[in-house]
Amino acid sequence: MTDILDHWVGGAAWQGASTRTAPVYNPALGAVQKEVRLATSADVDAAVVVTAAAWPAWRDTSIAKRTSVLFAFRELLNARKDELAAILTAEHGKVLSDALGEIARGLEVVDFACGVGHLTKGTYSENVSSGVDVYTVRQPIGVVGVISPFNFPAMVPMWFFPIALAAGNAVVLKPSEKDPTASIWMAQLLREAGLPDGVFTVVNGDKEAVDALLVHPDIRSISFVGSTPIAQYIYQTAATHGKRVQALGGAKNHMLVLPDADLDLAADAAVNAGFGSAGERCMAVSVVLATEQIADALVEKIAERMATLRTGDGTRGCDMGPLITREHRDKVAGYLDVAASDGATVVVDGRGVEVDGDADGFWLGPTLIDRVPLDSAVYTDEIFGPVLSIVRVEGYQDGLDIINRGRYGNGTAIFTNDGGAARRFQREVQVGMVGVNVPIPVPVAYHSFGGWKASLFGDAKAYGPQGFEFFSQEKAITSRWLDPSHGGLNLGFPQNA
Ligand code: NAD
Repeated sequence: MTDILDHWVGGAAWQGASTRTAPVYNPALGAVQKEVRLATSADVDAAVVVTAAAWPAWRDTSIAKRTSVLFAFRELLNARKDELAAILTAEHGKVLSDALGEIARGLEVVDFACGVGHLTKGTYSENVSSGVDVYTVRQPIGVVGVISPFNFPAMVPMWFFPIALAAGNAVVLKPSEKDPTASIWMAQLLREAGLPDGVFTVVNGDKEAVDALLVHPDIRSISFVGSTPIAQYIYQTAATHGKRVQALGGAKNHMLVLPDADLDLAADAAVNAGFGSAGERCMAVSVVLATEQIADALVEKIAERMATLRTGDGTRGCDMGPLITREHRDKVAGYLDVAASDGATVVVDGRGVEVDGDADGFWLGPTLIDRVPLDSAVYTDEIFGPVLSIVRVEGYQDGLDIINRGRYGNGTAIFTNDGGAARRFQREVQVGMVGVNVPIPVPVAYHSFGGWKASLFGDAKAYGPQGFEFFSQEKAITSRWLDPSHGGLNLGFPQNA
């Protein structure tokens, strides 16, 4: 009998009425390890009813009590992070050290949410008119929806739910159906941490569950992370139904290496940021833009480093694990044929990689393609795998123009020892997160995360101060305590008095 993963509703596992399930693989074994239930829209409605019923009491719980739950969650997660890392490796495939890194980044947002009281402070203007004061408070928005992708099954939910809960909202999370167990595990941990039943709900599912959330009148906002076509659909549909939306999409991140850069540093960065998590990161470096003067030397240094990487089962101390599904692996590997027919040079072909793992795993080794033409699908598509492209550029301006013409604007980096060039780049590049000699410039939890252009639909980034603003709404109060208590009739706007 295969295990079936349930939903999490009312503080307990819940089956719902759906008979549909989807397989959850261990990508390093290429084998199904469990099934996950796929909610119907009626299941989603039932789950939202429970969550909405739990919300008012949580909204009215003091900030001190709400954050004490998050402090307890933080302690429990720290103590038991190895359990969660094992789940991530078993379902996503990323190596254990990387899984622990993902959890650490999620925990940073929990840390931030523990201090939410600081952000709830409103503003106050005394005596704006005689005896009249105006002040603002920030209040929770209600039941919020979170829809997450497969590539960070713990961190991306943690970008949102700690702040949403600390701000006094109730949460319905719809994780990726490819690796859903981490969300259920975190739901159990929140319960152990003292979160009242019903305040945090997980509905497993696919498009049917997502669509039900997008139109549900009791869901006040949608926080989405995933591919650009779906992000755009989510943004349009949820906004049409009157919701606040932040929809983070795909990426194609460039790293520009100027001739004066430290080439060893740049080669290390390209390899780490290109092949970490098998390139299945929205902040992965996908394209290295190198000037002709240094391109040959840089390609050689990158290839040397790639030869030392071990691809294999994430539990065996390897550097890089498998891809998420067989179909995705085949699609990514297909870009090697595209590269060859488009006239690019395949420097390292990951298809023949020797693997420390089961032969049926969804493997593709680190791959390097040089002289990639800008009209090749290798350059224009988000590949989302361990494929690093080199594009040769004439100089700074050529590199900058290529980046700025791109459809996406998630992350980018410049490698140089010239402070003036770096400063210019930071001002001129049309990308939301910029690294200077830092290849994956993910902002810490007290800043906010989000790209530009097709990498983010909506105007609120994830976590940090913008995350709190998204999960709260401002109320402005104009107050008068008269003495004597009645000011008489006056139908006009007040004249300043
Ligand atoms: P995806 O878009 O396929 O799925 C994301 C979520 O949407 C999942 O929960 C899935 O069930 C749901 N979904 C899928 N198809 C749907 C449809 N037709 N209608 C409604 N819902 C649907 O993305 P993925 O493959 O899970 O994740 C990888 C993508 O996410 C990459 O494009 C990556 O760049 C992006 N990503 C972006 C960021 C960011 O911060 N910008 C972070 C992580 C991942």
